[in-house]
Amino acid sequence: MGRIIAIDGPSGSGKSTAARGVARRLGYHYLDTGAMYRAAAVACLRAGLAADDRAAIVQTCRDLDLDLGADPDDPFVRLAGDDITAAIRQPAVSAWVSAVAVIPEARAELVRRQQAIIARGDFVLEGRDTTTVVAPQAQLRLLLAADPAERLRRRGLELGRAGQTLNQDQLRDQVIRRDRDDSTLVDFQQAAPGVRWLDSTNLTAQAVQDQIIAWAGQADLTAGRAWRPAPDRLFDPSVPDG
Ligand code: C5P
Repeated sequence: MGRIIAIDGPSGSGKSTAARGVARRLGYHYLDTGAMYRAAAVACLRAGLAADDRAAIVQTCRDLDLDLGADPDDPFVRLAGDDITAAIRQPAVSAWVSAVAVIPEARAELVRRQQAIIARGDFVLEGRDTTTVVAPQAQLRLLLAADPAERLRRRGLELGRAGQTLNQDQLRDQVIRRDRDDSTLVDFQQAAPGVRWLDSTNLTAQAVQDQIIAWAGQADLTAGRAWRPAPDRLFDPSVPDG
């Protein structure tokens, strides 16, 4: 088992920027567990599944042929060889993803894959349940928070950079509605015992990363690590190559 830093938080809390920045600075691998839920949603959408066809959704998760980039500078997502890195961020996918995430058997399958991946090295991982379910053994666990208005603003900026312009209603659907749906699955609004809480509302991305790196230093997670590029890719071990 490698060294693990687990970061949970709601949409727009800054967890992706933080997780990627910390992985880059410490030379750790990076795993975005949300990208796996999104990839499963893409597979379901492509298969034309109904959002209430739980058995077919679970089977789709079990059959997922996923390839994830572990480099924080290139966290690509491939589904059966097809690059879906951009596609997983589309509003239709964001709207569908809760249909996957609410099914316990689908979660169990994705968590199993996540645990197999992080067993392969030093990882910064991010999601909703990484501090509590995926990696409760992580040496550093934290919950990133931010005010809803600030989270909406950040999500809007992020989507704008990806070339998507959403109106306020669509944005609220992506952030506030998803928070509500997701909070029925896992409690990511309150830090579990032993999980550090960090409010990023008034912090720059750099300040958030500096704080996490400082805690990582206290937890002895930076010892012997030079600042170097992270490794480039990692295949999902649960799926045969090719
Ligand atoms: O982090 P991101 O917003 O990309 O996650 C997409 C969705 O995947 C979340 O809204 C949630 O429904 C689901 N998810 C989850 N558990 C995780 C990560 C994501 O249920 N660990």
